[in-house]
Amino acid sequence: MSKTNIFRWAMTLIIALGILIPQGVVLSNSPQGAVLDDTPQTPVTVELSVSPSGGKGGTAVVTCKVSSTIEIKNLKVSITANRVSYLSTNKWTFTIAKGGASEYSTTMLFSSEGNMSVTCTALGPNHNGTRWGDAKTLYYNVSASAVNEGWNMSENFQRNAAKLLDENAPELAAATSEFSSSVPGPEPVSPDGSQLSEPSNPITQATTCYKGRWYFYDRGTYDAASGTPATTANRAKMTLRPLVWSSIWLYDDDGRSGDDYLGAAFTDENGYWSYCVTNPQSDGDYIDLYVQAAMASTWYDVSTSSSYNPYYWYTSNGTATWSNTSGANFNTGAWYVPNTSTNLLAAWTYNDLTRANMYLRDPHRVNSDPSAPTTMEYTVGFSMTSRTKWTPSSTDGTYYTFSDDTIHLQGNDPRTYSALTHEWGHFVMNRLYGADSEWPAGDGNCPSPHYYNGVSTKNCAWSEGWADALALLVPNDPLYRWASGATANNETRSGFSSGDEVEGNVAATFWDWMDKTNDGTGTYTDYVQLSFDSFLKAFDTQNDDYFTQYWTAWKALGEWCSPARDALKHNINSSGFTCP
Ligand SMILES: [Zn+2]
Repeated sequence: MSKTNIFRWAMTLIIALGILIPQGVVLSNSPQGAVLDDTPQTPVTVELSVSPSGGKGGTAVVTCKVSSTIEIKNLKVSITANRVSYLSTNKWTFTIAKGGASEYSTTMLFSSEGNMSVTCTALGPNHNGTRWGDAKTLYYNVSASAVNEGWNMSENFQRNAAKLLDENAPELAAATSEFSSSVPGPEPVSPDGSQLSEPSNPITQATTCYKGRWYFYDRGTYDAASGTPATTANRAKMTLRPLVWSSIWLYDDDGRSGDDYLGAAFTDENGYWSYCVTNPQSDGDYIDLYVQAAMASTWYDVSTSSSYNPYYWYTSNGTATWSNTSGANFNTGAWYVPNTSTNLLAAWTYNDLTRANMYLRDPHRVNSDPSAPTTMEYTVGFSMTSRTKWTPSSTDGTYYTFSDDTIHLQGNDPRTYSALTHEWGHFVMNRLYGADSEWPAGDGNCPSPHYYNGVSTKNCAWSEGWADALALLVPNDPLYRWASGATANNETRSGFSSGDEVEGNVAATFWDWMDKTNDGTGTYTDYVQLSFDSFLKAFDTQNDDYFTQYWTAWKALGEWCSPARDALKHNINSSGFTCP
């Protein structure tokens, strides 16, 4: 039994005994139960308030307050809503002064019942890939008599319908995986999360082997700045991709005594799965098969709550998709998470977690310069188990809780991969640091808010800058991307303050240590790809409180110092960085 398995079994026992500490409970001022406050902010902040009256047919005044710590010309503000029939003037363009604030209001009419959301977005112009902005969304349920905050979710809203794809569909031929990993990955989990299933039963014991393939619509060319993913125009930008490392749950539909859970398979790097079972079952009936694809594995899942309750997509609505299956082989075909699914963003989040986990596990020997010293390989020795909690209408913030290794995402966060990967970066640092109490000077000592481009503290810039850096390195993207559509370009660092108390400068340094584009000023070069594994190894022996301490530890590993020092000078703008 692997370490991961032992961990799962131990967790199962704890859950079974009912002694699990209530999850999501946030204790303050103690690293043990600490919460890491969120993703960084840009200089622009949006606050939104709505005062609804009546139910369907009623109106609301929507007020959006925009403030900024820097002057921004041509700042565009918009208030948008879905499922609302009337919205008065809702777009404004203005110049906001440094330290300034402005308020904008509009009136909207609730024309139909159901869940709706209203969003205020403020976005400045794009300067060399950096675009400051912010957005806030509030969620309401409209009934005949009232408008209440929050969405009405069905009891099983983690359960979603998949669609069958024509085997000859052109999208299918074009769908390629972004992953090709040779490292051992996680394993499937079962629907109740309480037991592991083996990836496949021995073929010799089986009479029927089932197989299939799963896909989902990923972000494709969708850009958060273009608004909600749910619009038809944005759906058209999404790309069909294989659904990777998803637990596949197989059931035998049995109307007499409930459905029999047959076991769990696991999709590979191209979305394929297979599973062999004895057929007919012990009751003499042939299997009436249906299948579910879950956003869950032994390493990570995307759940509706802080406990195990993963999103999944099913091949049928509780009735068997395939009756009385028999024969040696049975192909269930190609199924996909449709881009019209309310919970599509859970599938995006799961794929982002797969990317992050694969990135951490894969060896990184990226240093291609022949004059560089040998780069090291580092094997992650800690448990990868984490949970991500998300619902499409969650508003309780973007943060990471130490006590249960849970990432909390807000409704719109998964519009980009940055928020998830940032919080996952906190998880990685927490595990590498060993004990929660070793976290940089008391949970990073971050002011609230902390700005991507602005001065916070040395400790905060270190713990947040590392998390920001992973959000760049894992997807190989120099832009940190907010759900509002705002972006920070870590190559140009337009509008960044100087020094090692700026988290964006720490992130930009890691980025330059990895990337191969020389964006130096002419004085310094940063084109050398250093080894990500060396970054992890330097962590493994250290519990540094700030970035320059970490630099000293990294240097001591004997990696190629001078190009790394140049990147430091370029991004931190500080003297005193030396090489042996
Ligand atoms: Zn953070």
